[in-house]
Amino acid sequence: QKITIAIDGFSSTGKSTVAKQLAKALGYVYVDSGAMYRAVTLFAMQNGFINETHFDSDKLIANLNTVEISFKFNNKLGFAEVFLNDKNVENEIRTLEVSQFVSQVSEISEVRRMLVKQQQQMGKNKGVVMDGRDIGTVVFPEAELKIFMTASAETRAKRRFQELLEKGANVGYDEVLENVTSRDKIDTTREDSPLTKANDAIEIDNSYLSIEEQYKMLLELAEE
Ligand code: C5P
Repeated sequence: QKITIAIDGFSSTGKSTVAKQLAKALGYVYVDSGAMYRAVTLFAMQNGFINETHFDSDKLIANLNTVEISFKFNNKLGFAEVFLNDKNVENEIRTLEVSQFVSQVSEISEVRRMLVKQQQQMGKNKGVVMDGRDIGTVVFPEAELKIFMTASAETRAKRRFQELLEKGANVGYDEVLENVTSRDKIDTTREDSPLTKANDAIEIDNSYLSIEEQYKMLLELAEE
């Protein structure tokens, strides 16, 4: 019997790493909902709707009907990459630049409505592991297993910084920490679907847990 697994939590808690492994072990589909918000953000950047000095949310909303997001499974990578209007944007959406605008874009109700609908469609047959901020509260309130991942901001920034360095990005730790904390702030205080733990979610603070330990915990919970 397949179930729905919702994994929510703050930025850079390592949700996606564990979610991917879990989905693989269970033969489930993994959906990175953050990638969809990132793709819409990239779209807004490419069209000049958002930059350091201005954000024309009305223009973005007016053009949302031209945004098409899809996922295609990459056998070599072992997970699905995200496409924006048929272009693979998997790497482009992970830059610090996109991270710096994504929470502002995610505050827009029209954006959320569009993506939530698509996410619910992707999970309608169960057998899905989806990670994000509002999966257990809004997208799949009926999910059989809900996890809420936390870790200190410093721990998360260190992990994120390391990841970006490995990709060859030219960033500083302070910049990354600032991004992590400012996204937390916007994500938890926005009006539409703020990040919050669902009542029936299991909270896991993974500050001192290895990926392997988290994976084992989740697999056990999923198999219960
Ligand atoms: O998960 P990730 O860090 O890639 O998500 C990027 C941003 O997208 C988050 O900081 C949040 O603003 C937004 N997001 C959201 N709801 C989701 C997933 C992501 O608002 N379900």
